[in-house]
Amino acid sequence: MTPQNIAFIGLGNMGLPMAVNLAKAGNAVTAFDLSADAIAQAREQGLRIAGSAAEAVEGAAVVISMLPASRHVESLYLGEGGLVGELPADTLVIDCSTIAPASAKKVAEAAAAFGLQMLDAPVSGGTAGAAAGTLTFIVGGDAAVLERARPALQAMGKNIFHMGDNGAGQVAKLCNNMALGVIMAVTGEALALGTAHGLDPKVLSQMMAVSTSRSWATEVCNPWPGVLENAPASRGYSGGFGSDLMLKDMGLAVEAAMGVGATIPLGEAARNLYAMNRQAGRGGLDFSSVVKVLTDR
Ligand code: NAD
Repeated sequence: MTPQNIAFIGLGNMGLPMAVNLAKAGNAVTAFDLSADAIAQAREQGLRIAGSAAEAVEGAAVVISMLPASRHVESLYLGEGGLVGELPADTLVIDCSTIAPASAKKVAEAAAAFGLQMLDAPVSGGTAGAAAGTLTFIVGGDAAVLERARPALQAMGKNIFHMGDNGAGQVAKLCNNMALGVIMAVTGEALALGTAHGLDPKVLSQMMAVSTSRSWATEVCNPWPGVLENAPASRGYSGGFGSDLMLKDMGLAVEAAMGVGATIPLGEAARNLYAMNRQAGRGGLDFSSVVKVLTDR
């Protein structure tokens, strides 16, 4: 791959390991985050840090962002001094955050008006996938722009799916996360039912993991403490994918459903469970902590 000048904005749980993988692949990466902690960690990892987003994008052929939600992405690109009006025409802009499809379209349309080439490319694979460079990219935008982005995406992931025009990547990502949110909650529900009947959660999980209810929730991120040594549940639900981020994604799925008159009864019910998890003070913990809504009285 030909090395490129890449600006990376947003160095959180996902962004930092993604930026590190781009640098490891030989690219000249200049990074920026608003948080002093995130910047300190990025420096420790040997990344070059800019003093602002505007400084980070100077001389960059590619700009990649990995921010929490729609409002952060809109503020970076469309806010006062937003990047859309600052970047030279033809710059490739890839937003990897999970945001509302309507917001992704709005930013991409503004970017196109300034001659920029923009993709929405949210990811699946979690922090472990980000660190290992095995993320799945779920892409919306022009096919030719995706070809231009492919080398950078391949430095951070192993699967790339083109879902359609701008915003389509976000719609597909919401479908995946809505299903994941429901599956995690119902897996917790099943384990709570079994243990209330005196079953061993480990043996119950082992059985389910090779039976018809097997899923990422039974095999990789089991919500019951002590079942899988490396799952967040076995370290007090720390790390992983924040429950509040899942709540955001479930809310985006509800909004997306209302936009087209789709009915998502299970998604809506599960969204409420994550809202209850937040109210119980667990919004910052891994989303598998939603099981505690069912077990803690
Ligand atoms: P995070 O909260 O750990 O990191 C986000 C970072 O963005 C923070 O460091 C924050 O300071 C920074 N930031 C916010 N606004 C900024 C701005 N204007 N300029 C520069 N920096 C800014 O979040 P994360 O876990 O890395 O997730 C990022 C996105 O990826 C979210 O949309 C999330 O839904 C999605 N996602 C997360 C996971 C996961 O497992 N954590 C998996 C897939 C997708």
